[in-house]
Amino acid sequence: MSVESRKIRLVMDLRNGGVTDTRVLAALERIPRETFVAEAFQDQAYANQALPISCGQTISQPMVVGLMTQALELTDRHKILEVGTGSGYQAAILSRLVRRVYTIERHRDLMAAAEPRFKALNLHNITTMVGDGYKGWPAQAPFDRILVTAAARLVPPELVAQLSSEGGIMVLPVGDGGPSQEVIRVRKNGTQFESERLFPVRFVPLVQGVPDDPAKR
Ligand code: SAH
Repeated sequence: MSVESRKIRLVMDLRNGGVTDTRVLAALERIPRETFVAEAFQDQAYANQALPISCGQTISQPMVVGLMTQALELTDRHKILEVGTGSGYQAAILSRLVRRVYTIERHRDLMAAAEPRFKALNLHNITTMVGDGYKGWPAQAPFDRILVTAAARLVPPELVAQLSSEGGIMVLPVGDGGPSQEVIRVRKNGTQFESERLFPVRFVPLVQGVPDDPAKR
């Protein structure tokens, strides 16, 4: 099967699985997932599954990317923070849907691989930072939307603080390190919070701090 027909089939599967927002489907169709997948997994770029990337991390399953993106209720006026750049795939999808994407990754090597992909695809509204996303990006706060793509034990309070109090939405997987995690959606209005449980998932953990940089030792 050609790449194009695999892609069409994947987008159909996502629609059947509940990704009905046409802007989200169009972004999934437009961003080439093969650009974000290692050479060894090219033939699986349009399979509906998570795949390994370097540093022991994963590029998320397309269905999960679709459902989490849809849950964010994005418009082209939004400024969004993503925690966990990984391959850069999710950030690329977001960049088609919002005004500006800020994305943080704790592994320098992953960011060094993601940045040239953004350039190659002419995605110029993505700003990157290597650091601990658990703390958010205070200098750029508040954010209209926050998406965390690694599982936290609890909703990180720093991220809640950096979410806009005028209808800000944060979507994140929460779990205690075991196999059962759930995607949670937090809505913030003034000083009020509302949180909903959306669907079960399996993500790599959100790790506090950044890895030791050998160059600094
Ligand atoms: N959104 C990614 C999937 C990333 S997997 C994609 O589309 O490919 C989760 C990522 O979160 C991993 O790359 C991991 O290194 C990163 N991560 C985990 N804890 C983090 C933290 N505290 N700050 C920043 N990134 C973190």
